Amino acid sequence: MQGLMMGSPLLISSLLSHAERHHGATEIVSRRTEGDIHRYTYRDLAIRARQVANALREAGVKPGDRVATLAWNGYRHLELYYGVSGIGAVLHTLNPRLFPEQIAWIANHAEDQILLFDLTFLPIVEAFAPHAKSIQRYIVLTDRAHMPLTSKLPELGCYEEIVTAASPVLEWPEFDETSASSLCYTSGTTGEPKGVLYSHRSTVLHSYAAALPDALNLSARDAVLPVVPMFHVNAWGLPYAAPMVGAKLVLPGPGLDGKSLYELFENEHVTVSAGVPTVWLGLLNYVAEHGLKFSSMRRTIIGGSACPPAMLRSFEERYGVQVLHAWGMTEMSPLGTVGVLKHKHASLSREEQYAVQYKQGRAIYGVDMKIVDDAGVELPQDGIAFGNLYVRGPWVIQRYFKDAGGDPLVSGWFPTGDVATIDADGYMQITDRSKDVIKSGGEWIGSIDLENIAMAHPGVAMAAVIAVRHPKWDERPLLIVVKKPGVELSRADMLQHYEGKIAKWWTPDDVAFVESIPLGATGKMLKAKLREQFKDYRLPTI
Ligand code: ADP
Repeated sequence: MQGLMMGSPLLISSLLSHAERHHGATEIVSRRTEGDIHRYTYRDLAIRARQVANALREAGVKPGDRVATLAWNGYRHLELYYGVSGIGAVLHTLNPRLFPEQIAWIANHAEDQILLFDLTFLPIVEAFAPHAKSIQRYIVLTDRAHMPLTSKLPELGCYEEIVTAASPVLEWPEFDETSASSLCYTSGTTGEPKGVLYSHRSTVLHSYAAALPDALNLSARDAVLPVVPMFHVNAWGLPYAAPMVGAKLVLPGPGLDGKSLYELFENEHVTVSAGVPTVWLGLLNYVAEHGLKFSSMRRTIIGGSACPPAMLRSFEERYGVQVLHAWGMTEMSPLGTVGVLKHKHASLSREEQYAVQYKQGRAIYGVDMKIVDDAGVELPQDGIAFGNLYVRGPWVIQRYFKDAGGDPLVSGWFPTGDVATIDADGYMQITDRSKDVIKSGGEWIGSIDLENIAMAHPGVAMAAVIAVRHPKWDERPLLIVVKKPGVELSRADMLQHYEGKIAKWWTPDDVAFVESIPLGATGKMLKAKLREQFKDYRLPTI
């Protein structure tokens, strides 16, 4: 027997229509590439998104066509999120931090037809455009006054002219909710980039789940500032979840330095933010150096790589900002787990609570999760056994775009490539990426724990632990450290710092001090590059 309820499809346009009708006066504030602060409302966004949709249709864009962006977090990018997906076309967010050759490869693979980009990225676009075969039109996200006077590109469209000339009248079309809505390529930290093609249904369901109190806890009482870029897994879904709940949106544009971010946090009374740990290092340094406090910030979501415990404590103890440690991946839209305490944890000491919060957290409803051994046998949820982390659910990938790499699933589960424990309360902790695990004498050493301990040393700015060859044990951990400016720090200081904190045989065999650690396009440490750099490294024999 069928239920007798409406079958309204879960479409991305419905998020915007909801915000327009019920949160029409709520603000969206953006720092523009032109340098100034721009403000308007969800009502304005809805009008402009309809204009974008009409302009794209007039330009011949059809459902399923790929429309690419190369843009910061800003209101024009947001208009494209809705204008492109709203008419059934596919928004492809290119990552400007990749090399021009990589961008061209991805744009060709995706068969992008139009590219809309921020002024800042003109040199990058000029560098890859000759190799991007499918792109027929280039449009700059600015007004006539700021259009580049010269360019190597054949013809440049002016976004403001195109949008304002289009009609704001449009009924968002209804179509199958499983239609593709947006496309994002994995950053290729571990191989060729692969396309993840989200659907309207997966995006809307992910937004519902992301907003839940034990997930990102978003509401109309919030002002949300996503530091995580809109070109990285749709800014973790915040551009969709914010209109769903009617939260104010604050979009930082290219201003990702501590000073610019702090100004926006304070001036716009931001309550929630989100980003990778490396971004917060810069912000926390700025705030500490200038003796500042956060007056409105309540929570920050930290994920993308492990949040060092020292950072979590610093946010909570010095600034009263709750850290939501989250884990996910491009293939998961991206949210999988969030580390929020349960009712039973209220009576624990603060230290015991921290021990729970350091973990990557519990699965949100919609994500099913288990750990298995190499034979695929499920391992116990005891917080000790660790194995390959498998997930499944309505916003988890089924296949990569154009089947790149073949069928990724194992008996209906997606193998994440992460190694983890899950405890009896359901809290998952990443031990490592399977490719980064250090295999010492047949036993595994997780690099994340070792990095977290190093990061807690007051003289350490950044730390990575990688495997290096060892004649007897196969691999042993090497600690690579970037010191804070002006700090004296020796190998012995660092090794002594590990005493009593871990099993003795986990202690790194050596310490290398470097000027900087290479970061990837999404702000993560590039361990593969470090391993290459240190491939001939000889460990001390004593
Ligand atoms: P890429 O795989 O291209 O680096 P993603 O952004 O999809 O791009 O990265 C997902 C991976 O990032 C996860 O599989 C995991 O290894 C790592 N990751 C994400 N969040 C966390 C976290 N909170 N702690 C540890 N690792 C994390």
